[in-house]
Order: sequence, then structure tokens, then C-alpha cells
Amino acid sequence: MSIYCPLSEALGIPQPDHPIEYDDDIRFFSQPNGKGPLNSFYGKKHTKESKRLMSESQKGEKNHFYGKNHSETTKRTIAEKTSKLKKGIALSARHKTNIADALRGNPHTDERRKNISLSKKGKPTWNKGQTDKIVECPYCGKMGGNSNMKRWHFDNCKEKI
Ligand SMILES: [Zn+2]
Repeated sequence: MSIYCPLSEALGIPQPDHPIEYDDDIRFFSQPNGKGPLNSFYGKKHTKESKRLMSESQKGEKNHFYGKNHSETTKRTIAEKTSKLKKGIALSARHKTNIADALRGNPHTDERRKNISLSKKGKPTWNKGQTDKIVECPYCGKMGGNSNMKRWHFDNCKEKI
């Protein structure tokens, strides 16, 4: 059985070696811009393999946008257009839960708790090495952490006359 995938050809990647899946949802109206039944690829789908190859062929240095950045103006335009597109599209239940959890500061699930714990194993705590040095009050002889001792002893010591 011979298979022909025009997009694979256009991209210069190998033709698929297994049958192309056909789209069940066939529309009967031809459309402008090369869309619709007049398009040679109409109703066909790329195989997983050719999708993977197309994806690979656009990665890293091969991508036309590699090493480039959008300007602030372009970023704003993209943000506006995306938010307009998304307006009115219902979010999935899972998406809603995720947003709600993030906003509410929802308690972490046991699994997340475990992952966070694992990711911190063996690493020093954020306040490591920041412990107060122990000092002794010259008036009453009491010893304690520097900041508390400075507050309640030394010049503020009850024993100071
Ligand atoms: Zn003291």
C-alpha cells in the first residue's frame, strides 16, 4: 500500500510508512484560502510519526525563531489577541480547580507535600547559618540569642542600675 503525505513532502521528511488516518468529520463546503475539500490534504490527518518529525524539524536552532525574542509591543499584541480568543471559552473543571487552588492557597495534597519534601532533602534550609550568636549580658549574666538579648538585656537589662 503506498501512502502519500503532502506535508511530509513539503517539509522534506520521510513519507509515512503506515496508513494515514482519515477525518470522520467531512464538511461539504469548499472554502477560500486553500481550505476545504479542494485542499489535497482535506480530511486527512498526519500520522503520529510525521507529527513527531515535523515537531523535531522545528526545534532548537532549526526553528526560524531560534535565539530571537518578541518585542514588548509584539508581546502585548499577542497577549491581547490571546485573551480575546480565550474570552467566552469555558474552562475545564480541572483548569478551574487549579486556578481556584492557586488563588485560595489550597492546602497541599499529601503527594505534593511529599514531592516538596523530597525536593528539599539534603539541601540547607533557607535560614541556615543565620542563627543568632549567643551572647552574655554583662549585668545579669544571662545568655541567649543576640537579637533577643540586645532587646531585653545589655542597656535594657533589669539588673542595670
Ligand atoms: Zn541582663
